[in-house]
Amino acid sequence: MKLSKNFSLKELTTSQTAERKGINNNPNEDQITGLQNLCENILQPIRDHYAKPVTVSSGFRSPNLCVAIGSSVNSQHAKGQAADFEIFGIPNAELAKWIVENLGPDVPLHFSAFHPDWKMRDIEYTPHSTLNRSREIALGNGIRNVYLGNVHDKSRSSTYCHKCGELLIGRDWYELSEWHLDTSGCCVSCGTACTGFLEKSPGTWGAKRLPVSL
Ligand SMILES: [Zn+2]
Repeated sequence: MKLSKNFSLKELTTSQTAERKGINNNPNEDQITGLQNLCENILQPIRDHYAKPVTVSSGFRSPNLCVAIGSSVNSQHAKGQAADFEIFGIPNAELAKWIVENLGPDVPLHFSAFHPDWKMRDIEYTPHSTLNRSREIALGNGIRNVYLGNVHDKSRSSTYCHKCGELLIGRDWYELSEWHLDTSGCCVSCGTACTGFLEKSPGTWGAKRLPVSL
């Protein structure tokens, strides 16, 4: 099944971990709609512009897969709204600039650290300083919400109001702390809307162990 001109459902749902552990990673109809929107509005325009393969390393993640890889079951990946990708040879700065100019400053961008695991133990961890530098470049190019992943760095993993700078959602890995949004998802200090699919209240987030049914 095609999600857009150059992206297939298989590309957005394939997971080595799911295959290795026999986890069902098939999305439902709503999640497929999320993936179609993601491909049509974000990935396909990037693919068309650079005319190079956009390699998706992780797209949809079923709740069981989220648990298996230590990710939150509330992750946007679990709703078909996020993908990890790389375009070989395109610097982060250039991609960030293009996203702002063509897709808008509200597209959130995450820089996640690689960690050596299973069959790729010969590759080093991404240095924290590299993530910091990538984030600074993206912010400098106008992207409003830029986050670090797979590292403990609360100040660089939290959400801030792009208008007044107020900390809106405090975040350290999967732990949420502060929540300074009103029930309509706006900054409590200045009323500016925070872009995203936001719940009315924080919910019961945080790192926890859950059983995986295989
Ligand atoms: Zn504000």
